Amino acid sequence: MTIYSFKTRLVFLLALCVLFIFNTLSEGQESISFKTVVIDAGHGGRDPGAIGKMSKEKDIVLNVALKLGEYINKYLPEVKVVYTRKKDVFIPLNRRAEIANENKADLFISIHANAISTSKIYGSETFVLGLHRTKENLEVAKLENSVIVLEEDYTTTYQNFDPNSSESYIIFELMQNIHIDQSIYMASLIQSQFKDRVGRRDRGVKQAGFLVLREAAMPSVLVELGFLTNQSEEKFIASEKGQAYMASAIFRAVRDYKVEFDSKSKMEDITQKQLEKEQEKINYRIQIASSKKKIREGSSIYKKFDDVWMFKEGERFKYTTACNADFDSILVALKEVKNKVNDAFVVAFKGEEKISVNEARKIQRSKN
Ligand SMILES: [Zn+2]
Repeated sequence: MTIYSFKTRLVFLLALCVLFIFNTLSEGQESISFKTVVIDAGHGGRDPGAIGKMSKEKDIVLNVALKLGEYINKYLPEVKVVYTRKKDVFIPLNRRAEIANENKADLFISIHANAISTSKIYGSETFVLGLHRTKENLEVAKLENSVIVLEEDYTTTYQNFDPNSSESYIIFELMQNIHIDQSIYMASLIQSQFKDRVGRRDRGVKQAGFLVLREAAMPSVLVELGFLTNQSEEKFIASEKGQAYMASAIFRAVRDYKVEFDSKSKMEDITQKQLEKEQEKINYRIQIASSKKKIREGSSIYKKFDDVWMFKEGERFKYTTACNADFDSILVALKEVKNKVNDAFVVAFKGEEKISVNEARKIQRSKN
């Protein structure tokens, strides 16, 4: 049974949007919100990650991860922080994503530092899962994935994935990543913070096949803080001050992401509730015609009435005008309509379901 025209539905949706704005302004109702973030300090234990002249990746990223968690605990106490490691221990790549999945995290942030054969290259970059667009991105993924050879029996765990073969990465092209938009959004928030607030060289948001992101069932990013192979960059990110700056930059990105996330889910939540309410709503209409065949727009009833709604009952097309939740008001409207169609009468609906007028009035009385 269809009683709403496309135009009506559109108006209804617009009304919901307005309603949403007022709802958000007036009440702080409980809804789905950003609750849990998993912070993953890369490497650890027997896997040092990239090695600089004065520092190791595993130590730098652990410091930044712990600081980031501290900031979130302090300034966003409603958000639960879960670490994949808080100490210098070895954690297999697949276990890291598992931790995020088990905790039903809303966001997964893997923190790393980079290394490359030349000391000239420096800057920060943030990756999301996908197929590498350039050979350079592939090299970063290869480097970060190569740690699996330190795991026992990695060929079974990662289904014969060879971290050094380019062919193994083709699988990432086939992967459906439903969180790609949110992941890219988060990655770009991080990069702007690095660039605008910490003054780092922005190497951009990139895509590549990282095993650590592959199994994570939520928006996920992999941050490369900078290059340990560049002397001044290593000095910065190995320093306490540099680490505090980088952690607070990621923190601000998390905060901004949360604001966006919460407002979106609130809207979905309210829309859902409103739709449910709408399904329960009683409305009266005035039936003005009934026909075996669809009545053409432009026919006499469309000329007589500005608002005509059609619904189908059994095999028949039925046409109504006016719509009111108040029975007395619909009776007033009926008098007017009878001047044009003298056998017009009142029909009742619960949501989109036609019910008897008596039943409708009974439901309304029981609610009052
Ligand atoms: Zn790394």
